[in-house]
Amino acid sequence: MEGGKSEGMQLTELPGVGHKTAARLKAQGFHKAMDLVYLLPRAYQDRTNPQLISAVSVGQFATISGQIMSVSERRYRTRKTLEVMVTDGHGVILLKWFRYGRWFKGNIEKKLPPGTEVLVSGRVSSFSGNLEMHHPDLTETSGAEGGGIVPVYPLTEGISQQTVRKAVQAAVSQLLSTVSEDIPDAIRKENNLPALSESLSRLHDPLDTDDIQALNLGESHWHTRLKFGELLAFQLGLLIRRRALDSRTSHPVSPGGSLERKLIRTLPFKLTQSQVKALDDVGRDMERKVPMHRLLQGDVGSGKTLVAFIAMLKACEAGYQAVLMAPTEVLAEQHYRTISQWCKTLGLSVALLTGNVDGKQRADVLSKAVSGETKLFIGTHALIQEGVRFRNLNLAIVDEQHRFGVLQRLALGKKGSSPHFLVMTATPIPRSLSMVIYGDLDITTIDEMPAGRIPIETMVFRETDRSRMHLRVSREAEAGRQVYIVYPLVEETEKMELLAANEMAKNYREKIFPHLSIGLLTGRMVSREKDTVMEKFRSGEYQVLVSTTVIEVGVDVPNANLMVVEHAERFGLFQLHQLRGRVGRGMNQSTCILMEGANIAEEARQRLHVISMTNSGFEIAEADLKIRGPGDFLGVRQAGMPEFRFAHPFREGELMAAARKAAFKMLPEGGELTSGMVEEVRRMWSDEVLTANSG
Ligand code: ADP
Ligand code: MG
Repeated sequence: MEGGKSEGMQLTELPGVGHKTAARLKAQGFHKAMDLVYLLPRAYQDRTNPQLISAVSVGQFATISGQIMSVSERRYRTRKTLEVMVTDGHGVILLKWFRYGRWFKGNIEKKLPPGTEVLVSGRVSSFSGNLEMHHPDLTETSGAEGGGIVPVYPLTEGISQQTVRKAVQAAVSQLLSTVSEDIPDAIRKENNLPALSESLSRLHDPLDTDDIQALNLGESHWHTRLKFGELLAFQLGLLIRRRALDSRTSHPVSPGGSLERKLIRTLPFKLTQSQVKALDDVGRDMERKVPMHRLLQGDVGSGKTLVAFIAMLKACEAGYQAVLMAPTEVLAEQHYRTISQWCKTLGLSVALLTGNVDGKQRADVLSKAVSGETKLFIGTHALIQEGVRFRNLNLAIVDEQHRFGVLQRLALGKKGSSPHFLVMTATPIPRSLSMVIYGDLDITTIDEMPAGRIPIETMVFRETDRSRMHLRVSREAEAGRQVYIVYPLVEETEKMELLAANEMAKNYREKIFPHLSIGLLTGRMVSREKDTVMEKFRSGEYQVLVSTTVIEVGVDVPNANLMVVEHAERFGLFQLHQLRGRVGRGMNQSTCILMEGANIAEEARQRLHVISMTNSGFEIAEADLKIRGPGDFLGVRQAGMPEFRFAHPFREGELMAAARKAAFKMLPEGGELTSGMVEEVRRMWSDEVLTANSG
């Protein structure tokens, strides 16, 4: 996009666009005429070759030509549906709208009475054996300008398809010539991409011979060009950020190692090769003047905490401070317990800072942070709050990164002068995705479990198996081992569910297992209550812990060998995997029983099947991606991702990889970008992220 007059052209300067239309377009985020050039059609109609209704198939995108038989509005309970029946003499199809305004309905009733000849385009579905289209595009045949392949734009309430089409056409004809190419020719050639202006032109006005299926799927050559441009801007942003990070100087940590060696001597086990390799990577990073920015990924139970702690020891031995930040209090406290023990054998002190730590204790921790008296800190986001200052923070470790996101990572960085960063995640992310989420980080993977672990056996039980489950619980407890029973809380019905969890605990205590000692842990409890319950479970006073999902992360009770998950179908695959990771930490065979509710959806059944078949987080992640689709994967969307207009960042693995390669080519050390690209990058990324202003 070039500056100047074209860039500034107002919507109302376009022929046919009045103030009303302009206001409606603006409400949808289209402020300037140029924005319309980038408003891509959501579908295409092939007017020259409509299909017979009798010949369309379910799932396909089709255009048909027929006559309106009826228009009616129906009420299903509280919902209204607008229904239009259309026939072409060979078949009947029912068009349905579930969301529509009065304007839309009035327009159809007035302008398209029964008998009107119409063209309809949309995805074909079926409902109890009849063909349907939901929210299709519907136009009067006589009013349809011309034949061929015609674009259908996302409709805005109060604007007709014709109006949008005309406005876009006007914008394209006036402004397309001013659109300048922002991807260098060499990169375009290498990736076989058409020019930007050509792509925009063809997307708004395809040739009759263009592949309509590809256009409708958003997979045409022209679409690819726009997606690539966006992914390239995304990757360039990550690269610029990484360059900014690398231009800083941190305090290198000289390889000491005496604390490390001392610790390793006292451990009752040997480090796995993966752990050794991870420590090599981390050690090498920390010895450099450029701050480390590394992701440490490894499955639940693979021993990341120890790696983190040894990294902290390196900083400590060199006279610096180090922090480990966890996403929840329970997890922070768990780390604190583990690390305190290690510290005791080394004669070091470590401080805990969470929301729970207050008053004098908090003041004490804060003062020792400023003075540098304490070198090692464990905590939650309480560590990044105002007023927490360190003397010489050199290493910041973030556990379970995807819960924090880029921005919080930045905040932690502000606490030191360019500290080394280590981000830990238990989520083994397929490579294409890790490039998306962690594109600015180097990656180390722990792909090996400590020796001697016995794989957890996972079983799916129906309601009819409940008494068998009770038997297993009793037997386990009687053998001196402990049991988790997890109960899901669903947000909307949290109160009801909480009642249910309480009720269930009571039921277990009084009726089913009167002979066992049972604790209850819920998310609603204040931290101190949670601590008390956890402590009693840890010490073995409780044989069974009934819990809502708060134990999802971080609890480490090796004597717990059985986990029962009630309504397992309500959990996501990954949640189940993490939950299950709470057992299988000791030397005995552990079991996970997934209680499957009645009448569950096919997708949920698939999930339970996957989880019962494999213990590998990596396989589970891949399956999750397949079952749920990448959009929901891990809820990464909340993790400070920029917005994409054309590409779906998780779906275009190959294109993303190509864009990454291109970004490195375009931006060799110290290189410059075209002004168009710079703008694209700015549109996606905030300055704070780009300049790594803090990291
Ligand atoms: P995660 O990677 O999920 O954070 P943890 O660090 O909590 O895993 O480790 C899980 C358990 O395994 C802990 O009890 C830890 O002490 C133990 N552990 C760590 N490394 C090893 C090893 N090399 N051999 C045996 N056990 C280990
Ligand atoms: Mg962990």
